Amino acid sequence: MSQELETLFALQELDLRLLEKQREVDKYTKALAERQEAIADCDARMAKLSTSRKELVGQRALAERRVSDSQTQLKERRQRAGRVRNEGEMRASDREITSMEREISDQEDAYLQLDAQVEELEAAIAVIRGEQNDHHDADNRQVKDEEERINVLKAEVAAQRAERDKVADALDASLRKRYDMILERRGGRAVVTVVAGNCQGCHLQIPPQSLIEIMRTRAVRVCPQCNRIIYIPADE
Ligand SMILES: [Zn+2]
Repeated sequence: MSQELETLFALQELDLRLLEKQREVDKYTKALAERQEAIADCDARMAKLSTSRKELVGQRALAERRVSDSQTQLKERRQRAGRVRNEGEMRASDREITSMEREISDQEDAYLQLDAQVEELEAAIAVIRGEQNDHHDADNRQVKDEEERINVLKAEVAAQRAERDKVADALDASLRKRYDMILERRGGRAVVTVVAGNCQGCHLQIPPQSLIEIMRTRAVRVCPQCNRIIYIPADE
């Protein structure tokens, strides 16, 4: 009987260490995932902007060609204007030239607007490229370090778990099940010490006769309030 309580106490110590280690693993794993997400987000924004840029550059080239084609046509039209034979033809020619000039001016506006949009996109791309470089310079190293640290921690968790399982194996199966159940329900603490007669899990004053009985028999008893297994240290 007496050995059981000592084993439970030792197991609880191991499980607290294990829980702490597991929380550390979770913390670093989460931080790493967030960093990788930030990198992926950056890459996705870059891909989207690059696609838009490609499209706009194509449109700008078309607009530029439209302007230059119209200018060629206007030049030809002006040359023909020198060969008009009467006033009627001259007026018609002037009207046509004016309308062509207006059209070219509109085409130039369209071109300039596209050019400004490309410039704006390129500025946005430069910002993201800066972000990407920062990620790649700093995070590539950090991500690798983090991964290594997490792997070391995971190995430590595995070793600690093996150690606790070995201790747990010494317990009677039903007691082990009971311990695991309390551990799960009570936030990782199944065994509590009693200090000055108080349960350290919920601070209930444990009746003295119960304490005397536990000390005498070393039996496995639970706190009447929080249902955790009571362990009385030797100096109590
Ligand atoms: Zn309690």
